[in-house]
Amino acid sequence: MEVQNEHLRSSQTQYEQSEGYYADLFNNAPVGHLTLTENELISEANKAATELFGIERHDLLSRRFASLVVAEDADRWYLLFAQLIKYNQAVDIELMLKHGQGRYFPVQLNCLSINAKVRISITDLSNIRQAETVLRDVEETVAISTEQLHPLKNQIDLLHTLQKITSLVPGMVYKFRLRPDGSAHFPFASEGIRELFQLSPDDVRDDASQLFALIHPDDFDGVVASIQKAVQDLAPWSHEFRMKFYDGTIRWVSGSSLPEQEKDGSKLWYWYGFMFDITDRKHREHELRESEFLWKFAVEGSGDGVWDWNVQTNQAIYSRIWKEMLGYSEDDLLPTYHEWLWRIHPDDKLSVKEALQAYLDRKTEVYAVEFRLRCKDDSYKWILARGIVADYTEEGSPLRMIGTHTDISKRKFQEQQDKEHLNQLAHITRLGLMGEMATGIAHEVNQPLTATVNYATALNLLASLDEPDLEKITKIASLVSEQALRAGKIIHRMKSFCQNQNTSSTSTDINTLINDCILLCNSDLKKHNITLNLELAEALPMLFVDVIKIEQVLINLIRNSTEALAGNDNPIKTVTLSSLMLDENQLQIQVRDNGSAVEQAIQEKLFIPFFTTKIEGMGMGLSICRSLIAAHKGTLTFDSLSGLGTCFYITLPIK
Ligand code: ADP
Repeated sequence: MEVQNEHLRSSQTQYEQSEGYYADLFNNAPVGHLTLTENELISEANKAATELFGIERHDLLSRRFASLVVAEDADRWYLLFAQLIKYNQAVDIELMLKHGQGRYFPVQLNCLSINAKVRISITDLSNIRQAETVLRDVEETVAISTEQLHPLKNQIDLLHTLQKITSLVPGMVYKFRLRPDGSAHFPFASEGIRELFQLSPDDVRDDASQLFALIHPDDFDGVVASIQKAVQDLAPWSHEFRMKFYDGTIRWVSGSSLPEQEKDGSKLWYWYGFMFDITDRKHREHELRESEFLWKFAVEGSGDGVWDWNVQTNQAIYSRIWKEMLGYSEDDLLPTYHEWLWRIHPDDKLSVKEALQAYLDRKTEVYAVEFRLRCKDDSYKWILARGIVADYTEEGSPLRMIGTHTDISKRKFQEQQDKEHLNQLAHITRLGLMGEMATGIAHEVNQPLTATVNYATALNLLASLDEPDLEKITKIASLVSEQALRAGKIIHRMKSFCQNQNTSSTSTDINTLINDCILLCNSDLKKHNITLNLELAEALPMLFVDVIKIEQVLINLIRNSTEALAGNDNPIKTVTLSSLMLDENQLQIQVRDNGSAVEQAIQEKLFIPFFTTKIEGMGMGLSICRSLIAAHKGTLTFDSLSGLGTCFYITLPIK
């Protein structure tokens, strides 16, 4: 009020200075202004004042102001007016005035008297009073005992915070009450709410049925049930629903409110809250769902199943095809992550979990893993799972992962068949290789056996002496066992090399493997007067390989080198075996000879099955060697230069 007085005072000063300016200000001010003479007659009235009273300007002029004041307030007014004239002062007063139509309305008057004239500005308090009255009008509201107040204290604190927030977002606040007879009304609904629902204040104040009639029929029961529950539990209410307007438009709204007790001690409650139009957000959500649907549709079109996993809650959604892949129907299976987890083959569980964790911990860039998954009929299917994190929590940890399942059983079956086929081929060619080397190996075994016989004869002699030299005997006996062991080792290697049993990968030291191969190739090399050089790097990491298969490749390469050197008149014939780290992920074995190089024209054909330049050659060796190395996810390459010889490179991954 003080602000308005200030405003009036400054207007007054300006009036002294500029009559015209004041007249303009006076006439167009949004607040009603009157000027009274010292006889209390209205001498001036602006437009807002005539509208306020609903009385034409010429009717207002020359009336006594007291004729507009209700009888109950007349005395207070006269007293104030007398003072104003006498003391030239600024005074505020609240009165009830009479409208031209006969109704009364509350006002606040800001009065200023100067030079026997009283200027009055009038503020209509009707709306404010009305709001205050209805806010106090609680007697019909659901009665609640004060004991029930306590648990809601926090909510009330929250409500006050909300009130503060909503005061910054004007116009969306409402107050809602349910009468004991079940009817509802909105004693207070701000401008924004009225705009939102396209209703006038009177439409909803006393009877909310009009507003309820706007609720979309499909959402009506849900809204009513949620309100009833909130009222029953004295709990906060929040709900999202659609409104259907008379012109057919549909809008989504979100309402939330908290219960608060009336402050007049009546122990009664009302719900106070705010509402927003969330149509745009709902549309965006819908579009998102649509695009998600399209994405799933596209993926499923390729025959893949789709999964959607909430990493935090372990809830999971599986698509129809995901379930059908395992023999389930769309309605089967619970929407949980564990429905997937417990179906994984026990032998694959660890590797799958590790792959998933590594991806979630951002140690790997992709999540793609192959495993067996149990079907409804307890059989297993090979699945390729791929996925990405689609959403992160505010803290940055994975929230949601989406991905696909591809049935790779056919491919796995084919792979298995190829593997068996390769195994058989490898076995046949190994036998061929062994056949070619048998004479040499027999010779290699013969040597220690001959030595053993000689040592045994010597032992006999020494033992028959009168005073046997025990120290010598012990030494020779150990030489006997050494030679016997050597022969046994060669036979053992040969036996395992020729066996046709499914071998599997084991953790292997490559240098030991190379040395074992030499046992079988040695006699061949010696026979052809070939010097064997070893360049083995130290402290190599262990490799996970099928020992027999890698040995087969090495022996095959060494034998090819031997043959390339046999027809060569190079005076110093060498085969060099090297092992080295190529980089931190790969290890390489090299088999180098200085024999006749591979002619340029045939270099491309070397790995083609049945390609050979030898009269008795089969031409299968290198093609099988390449397949065996490929089965280890490695590569077999070579280079060959006339005059220098040929070098084959076996490159194997360390993991
Ligand atoms: P095969 O030894 O039965 O001929 P392979 O597949 O092992 O079959 O070898 C194919 C061909 O590659 C050989 O016939 C030979 O011409 C060539 N080759 C292989 N290794 C060497 C080598 N170290 N030096 C020169 N030529 C080689």
